[in-house]
Amino acid sequence: MDFIVLTLFPELINSFFEHGMISRGIKKKLIKGHCINIRDFSCDRHNTVDDRPYGGGSGMVMKLESLQAAILHAKKKNPESRVVLMSPQGTRFSQKKAFELASRNKDLIFVCGRYEGIDERIYTTLVDEEISIGDYVMTGGEVASMVIIDSTARLIPGVLGSSESFKSDSFIDDRLEYAHYTRPEEFEGLKVPEVLLSGNHEKIRLWRKRSSLQRTFLKRPDLLQKNTLDAEEKKILKQWRQELETLVRE
Ligand code: SAM
Repeated sequence: MDFIVLTLFPELINSFFEHGMISRGIKKKLIKGHCINIRDFSCDRHNTVDDRPYGGGSGMVMKLESLQAAILHAKKKNPESRVVLMSPQGTRFSQKKAFELASRNKDLIFVCGRYEGIDERIYTTLVDEEISIGDYVMTGGEVASMVIIDSTARLIPGVLGSSESFKSDSFIDDRLEYAHYTRPEEFEGLKVPEVLLSGNHEKIRLWRKRSSLQRTFLKRPDLLQKNTLDAEEKKILKQWRQELETLVRE
């Protein structure tokens, strides 16, 4: 799967492609990462990519000519690539969306805006989808594109060290992931839960399920409302409630 980023700041993106799991995925040829400088497609000798807004007002607007040329260039290799515009006005990105993009296995071209935004006519023919990473406004789409590439690429088989790594991640089945511990067994009086040292796989599975449920209940109760509890979770919650009631009585 190819990730192509159209940007005015290629250094930001190139550095991202050179580090961590993403760089490993690229080296293992599981994914590809390219960057295209929109300015290279400017249509005048001053390399202009923006202009003043019609109707007046503050800020500049990204022009369409250079963007169109950059998108068409990016699509040359694979005309079927999906063009995704980074925009605070787009559909909100989520883990579910990351799974959808990864499983579609279609090359993605990210268009990163700058300034006040992009000429509205980009929506008519040039982009397939508009995605936001949250309800706030950043100075450019680069960070947003990296967020989406990072969370999508790690779901492509082989990119993470172990294919199991994301199976218990937060937001899978609307739950947060269980608590993690590593050495030392005791840190400033805080001990690792004994069950994790027991080697009993079934007990560890149950402890993790309980930890995941408790964390979701305490930190993100909204997630629990989206999904029904399975029989084991109902049992865990009942037991937890009884424990809390005993504590209050004591
Ligand atoms: N004036 C625009 C508005 O209020 O909708 C915001 C433009 S913003 C300063 C410049 C660029 O940053 C946008 O074109 C978009 O590419 C990117 N951007 C900013 N916030 C974003 C977000 N939450 N998600 C995705 N992209 C974002």
